[in-house]
Amino acid sequence: MLPEPIHNAAAAFDSLPGVGPRAALRYAYWLMTQPKEVIAKFAKQIEGLASQVTICQICFQWADQSPCSLCRDPGRDQTSLCVVATSQEVRMIEETGVFKGRYHVLGGTLDPLEGRTPETLKIMQLMTRIAEPGTPVREIILALDADIKGDTTALYLRKQLANTPVKITRLARGLPNGAALEYADANTLADALLNRKETKE
Ligand SMILES: [Zn+2]
Repeated sequence: MLPEPIHNAAAAFDSLPGVGPRAALRYAYWLMTQPKEVIAKFAKQIEGLASQVTICQICFQWADQSPCSLCRDPGRDQTSLCVVATSQEVRMIEETGVFKGRYHVLGGTLDPLEGRTPETLKIMQLMTRIAEPGTPVREIILALDADIKGDTTALYLRKQLANTPVKITRLARGLPNGAALEYADANTLADALLNRKETKE
């Protein structure tokens, strides 16, 4: 019944998180009501994710070039490094405007059940950044979710970093337990950053 391209587009939308088959079909039909240029532009914008985005080879966030604009910015504080799970959190912390240091994106959190072992994250690269002779890094802020995966990752990193002279802090628990940073509003996140606590065993 359904023309194959519409079926295919709906299947593509259906694969997005939080989109069910009905909504997916609605999106496909809505696009069909648009001028051809609008559909082509939409497709091009999505395609740009594959062809125009790269990973910064210093902080590992998504960027349009490597090093990214944050890593290139001489005005950023070199002494503090904020460790986050994904590029999305970099954007959220930047929106709070309270952090002026640099970032390190792990690419996820530890979750052995899903195969997310330390080797699959940019943990070795973090250690290398800190171990570089003459590194200016004095503080590492662990900006991870306040849930089991975030806690497990923070604990692991703390052990790995135990023999380095850097101070390790974690976001204050203004964030509710179990909270994903993704859902925190900018004020809550800014508070959590400003009231961060030094973490100890
Ligand atoms: Zn970067």
